[in-house]
Amino acid sequence: MSFSRRDFLASSAVALGAGFIGRPALARAWQQQMPAWTPVFTEIRRGVGFFTGRGGTVGYLINAGGVVVVDSQFPDSAKLLVEGINQRSKNRPVDRLINTHHHGDHSGGNIAFKGLAKKVVAHERAAELIRQAAAAPNAAEQLSPDSTFTDVWREEIGDEWVRAKHYGRAHTGGDAVITFERANVAHMGDLMFNRRVPVIDRRNGALVANWIVVLEKAAADHASDTTYIFGHAGASLPVIGTRADLMAFRDYMTAALNHTRAAIKAGQTREQYTAAPLTLPGFEAYGAHNANTLGIFFDEMSSF
Ligand SMILES: [Zn+2]
Repeated sequence: MSFSRRDFLASSAVALGAGFIGRPALARAWQQQMPAWTPVFTEIRRGVGFFTGRGGTVGYLINAGGVVVVDSQFPDSAKLLVEGINQRSKNRPVDRLINTHHHGDHSGGNIAFKGLAKKVVAHERAAELIRQAAAAPNAAEQLSPDSTFTDVWREEIGDEWVRAKHYGRAHTGGDAVITFERANVAHMGDLMFNRRVPVIDRRNGALVANWIVVLEKAAADHASDTTYIFGHAGASLPVIGTRADLMAFRDYMTAALNHTRAAIKAGQTREQYTAAPLTLPGFEAYGAHNANTLGIFFDEMSSF
């Protein structure tokens, strides 16, 4: 997804409410000192771990033979990401920076790896979209992917095999799952929103009907006990999980499309379908869908 401003505001509000009511000057001073998000590194196994800060969850591998980072969040959180990676790797270069897809909350921090990452890897469509965004007028300086693939990329880094695989159109037209094969950990990028309404980038190739298939293919390609890293999760829900979480998300999206299909069949117009926020029965944990998301479902279902 593109913004975590909602989370930012929510955590600021909680913090302010806690101690600064009626003391705006103090509150402002505190706010300037403290980021509303905390950078956290969590190891899973065999040198593979994840970093949370501001934006999509980052994955990493640090072993005796090399360093890999998956996604880079935003430029500000990427600085803290790079600091932590350097500390843990004893300042070794990053052999591969891999982008799961082009969105700014996953690739905007690539620039922090300039001069540090030997290669930046992405699916060809994601790479093209990152380069396009970087070429826009007033765009911030960017480190775009220089190594692309269409279906599968695979490389040995130290005693780990790292694989990037594109399963077809889903959250965008250029998503990849990054697997650390021996560690049995797979980074799903934004193919996984854990109990949270997903961002669907229809303009750049997203297709919800195929996203459902992609989740099934990805699950079938991994062991039943693989640990998955999720791009995003609902408030205070985990950003890692299991195959069951992937299947829960598949079921949610199936229900969403079924709901839309039924509405179209019943004669609802786009305007009627998007008129009010919708919470899907049985999938309340995902929260309400706004007009934008409902419109995307409607457009996709109308196009068949
Ligand atoms: Zn995204």
